[in-house]
Amino acid sequence: MLELKKSINQSIVLPNNDRVELFLKREDEIHSFVSGNKYRKLKYNLLEAQKLGLKTLLTFGGAFSNHIAAVASAGRLMGFDTIGVIRGEELLDKVSSNATLSFAKENGMRFKFVSREDYKNKTSNIFLQKLKNEFGDFYMIPEGGTNTLAVKGCEEILSAYDGAFDYICCAVGTGGTISGLINSSKPNQQILGFPALKGDFLKQDISRFALKTNWELISDYHFGGYAKINTELIAFINHFKASHHVPLDPVYTGKMMFGIFDLINKNYFKKGAKILAIHTGGLQGILGMNARIKNKNIPIID
Ligand SMILES: *Cc1c(COP(=O)(O)O)cnc(C)c1O
Repeated sequence: MLELKKSINQSIVLPNNDRVELFLKREDEIHSFVSGNKYRKLKYNLLEAQKLGLKTLLTFGGAFSNHIAAVASAGRLMGFDTIGVIRGEELLDKVSSNATLSFAKENGMRFKFVSREDYKNKTSNIFLQKLKNEFGDFYMIPEGGTNTLAVKGCEEILSAYDGAFDYICCAVGTGGTISGLINSSKPNQQILGFPALKGDFLKQDISRFALKTNWELISDYHFGGYAKINTELIAFINHFKASHHVPLDPVYTGKMMFGIFDLINKNYFKKGAKILAIHTGGLQGILGMNARIKNKNIPIID
């Protein structure tokens, strides 16, 4: 397995606020390349693939996917071949201008670019059989990486010392990470998820994996949907980095922290509350986002 650094809980000093305390668990720093929750989600999947004797990992994602970058990197470090099934045929000749895809390629990932139509049916038996014919046998990891083994890995994010926090906050994509946090939380702790996308399906998805009911989704901070941003969000991310020396990504952790700050300002949290936010990583996505917004008259991420 990859050697990980222990993540620290960094105090985030809140000026003009003596009601609550905020800490940030630096899961973005557990590994140089396979950061944050994506490594947690892969760990037991890669062990399972090894156990099954499979040499190739196959997974799915979009052109800026943290999961694609993590699978490529972790795969190389652990001696797997990796295949990324990527949404969008038009990306075929754009790999070199896309930071995520070029990183994955440098780490040995082979790509299969598919139309949006095929991508929708990517887990159908017919499509999977086609992939097997083309690439041979593989261990399949779902888009975003969430399955039972991924949730098991995310149960290792919290340590025994984290029982002192009243609230644990995290960004939500597919719900695997929050499910792991819920399962390893104490019953008196409240787990708050900040979805990075619109959609009512998340609650059900989380309920499939979560073994407790001490959680809630706060759906007011998705900024219009997955990977949607605006000037206010970018300004917040830049200000946060300047004030606290912590980079946030624009798709997940930036939106979560924006939400936490807004809730703190609205006195959502009970007086004296100790809040732990999880920095789930995702910083590799900043380059790609900056490339997308530089023509849009929006400030870029510092
Ligand atoms: C993928 C990702 C998430 C969401 O994790 P899920 O388990 O899919 O909910 C949160 N933060 C970052 C940085 C991510 O890359």
